[in-house]
Amino acid sequence: MKRILVSGGAGFIGSHLCTRLVNEGNRVICIDNLFTGSKENVEQLMGNPLFELIEHDVINPFWTDVDEIYNLACPASPIHYQYDAIKTAKTAVFGTYHMLGLAKRNKARILQASTSEVYGDPISHPQQEKDWGNVNPVGLRSCYDEGKRCAEALCMDYYRQHKVQIKIIRIFNTYGPNMLPNDGRVISNFVVQALQNKDITIYGDGQQTRSFQYIDDLIEGMVRMMATEDDFTGPINLGNPGEFSMLELANMVLELTGSKSKIIFQPLPHDDPRQRKPDITLAKSKLDWEPIVHLEDGLVKVIEYFRGVLSK
Ligand code: NAD
Ligand code: UDP
Repeated sequence: MKRILVSGGAGFIGSHLCTRLVNEGNRVICIDNLFTGSKENVEQLMGNPLFELIEHDVINPFWTDVDEIYNLACPASPIHYQYDAIKTAKTAVFGTYHMLGLAKRNKARILQASTSEVYGDPISHPQQEKDWGNVNPVGLRSCYDEGKRCAEALCMDYYRQHKVQIKIIRIFNTYGPNMLPNDGRVISNFVVQALQNKDITIYGDGQQTRSFQYIDDLIEGMVRMMATEDDFTGPINLGNPGEFSMLELANMVLELTGSKSKIIFQPLPHDDPRQRKPDITLAKSKLDWEPIVHLEDGLVKVIEYFRGVLSK
């Protein structure tokens, strides 16, 4: 039985990961300051002797004995990471620094949840791991984008200087149950708006694109990445290469919910990337992995989930 620490384990992705790891018979220690995560997300694990939730802020050090660490703690939606930008940068950088220190002391493996945001408004398309990114270092998204870029740099330096076994994944837009209905990300916004017959808010002209990955596919990729050979550090893209404009997404949500909502157009947020789509050649070859859930099928599940949340 492994002892596995998941920072940010009470959040959207973390809660699915904790469930998977506990179901596989691991002892899971979830640390979270409950900023965007919640006890409800891990409710089904409470009381399970294999699971422990500890309220802790990763901007402070944390010591325990572990074999593996998944470092997920960081708000991920623009409204939440911009709410207290300085805190976001501290979480991304100090949090990763503390988790790397813990990995070093334990000789543990650590998987870093990085992001497609490191590519910024990408110059090449689709994005490959070798691309360096086109990121505004002084904009409203910089606390998150540059925080995550610095965290990647720290991981690589711990690998080179201290031989810590690091695994960097660059996660592309992911969706599924346990997302907050009000977290401002596009799928939760559109689905909740559609279910409430409220206006669907497209920012800009709706021609910007994203690639959406269902949570189950991501979790499979994360677990496979953690199990790769010692010297494979990544970074590796984990995302679904299907690419959709926000207008296409809005129409799909309207059709699947049968909603009477109207589409309205609102100003585009600062530094909103025009396009995003992962090249997953590396993940296919290294992890024998590719996403299997089509956007429409994933949307049906998430619509069902939000129907339940809204009826409470
Ligand atoms: P989330 O906001 O649901 O989860 C983040 C979790 O971290 C929450 O439980 C929150 O309470 C916790 N947290 C935040 N600051 C903390 C701190 N200082 N100390 C301890 N805990 C803290 O977001 P998510 O979508 O589950 O994202 C998880 C990770 O994956 C993040 O690191 C994010 O950057 C990365 N990621 C997510 C996506 C996506 O599409 N969901 C895409 C790219 C990268
Ligand atoms: N978006 C939108 N309407 C919304 C929320 C988001 O049109 O109500 C757009 C947003 O401008 C961006 C895309 O959807 O172009 C994805 O936004 P999200 O915040 O989900 O993720 P990110 O921008 O971080 O990829």
